[in-house]
Amino acid sequence: MKKELNNELAFRYSRQILLSGFDLEKQEILMNSKILVIGAGGLGCAASQYIVAAGIGQITIVDDDVVEVSNLQRQVLHFEESIGCKKVDSAKNTLTKINPHVDITTIDKRLSHKELESAVTAHDLVLDCTDNLETRNTLNDICYAMKKPLVSGAAIRMEGQIFCVIPSMKTACYRCLSHYFGEQNLSCVEAGVMSPVVGIVGASQANEAIKILTSFGQIPINKLQVFDAIASNWESFLVKPLEDCVTCAAVQVNE
Ligand SMILES: [Zn+2]
Repeated sequence: MKKELNNELAFRYSRQILLSGFDLEKQEILMNSKILVIGAGGLGCAASQYIVAAGIGQITIVDDDVVEVSNLQRQVLHFEESIGCKKVDSAKNTLTKINPHVDITTIDKRLSHKELESAVTAHDLVLDCTDNLETRNTLNDICYAMKKPLVSGAAIRMEGQIFCVIPSMKTACYRCLSHYFGEQNLSCVEAGVMSPVVGIVGASQANEAIKILTSFGQIPINKLQVFDAIASNWESFLVKPLEDCVTCAAVQVNE
């Protein structure tokens, strides 16, 4: 059923509706959009709290982990009392308190390729909030094949990055990116990460997701955005689609 703005919701989201060019219309688009979030760690917590507060229609969070004390430094949806609980339950609990008007679904397992395909199909956009290269590549391939936008985020040490893959616009994909910039598979368990860096990247993923879903503002096409928290600087790098990319070149030729 289509969700519509009533007076209560219009007031709730009024600061967004006031934005020039966003308006009631885009708020309603957002309220009828579905986002799949893979990972309820640092990036997933930061991204989903803003997406939910902003009034997404439905969000599905996938994670098979349990909250540990070392997560609390940056995974802001989980609290002291969540230690030992499933991350998805803890995240849902907090997100429901932030905005009870959002439908929140949780999946407490590592999805098989087939399950991931059906999950991606059932949503309008995917947020990659994992720290696992294999999952990143799999998600990228499925999103490209299903023509679903993917907003990928990563944070490690004092550095963050965001990359948007928009198959309908035939942009470069995550595999094209790793060709140019190499495949880093370091996790923050080994290398460490500064708490707010995770928040900055997650919040930026949420911002790009809202813009893509509602066609608002400029979408960073073929652009890797890198945040250097030591120098306090954002930089953009051009990522061209690879002519022989196993994921996106094949899809582009078939059309
Ligand atoms: Zn590609």
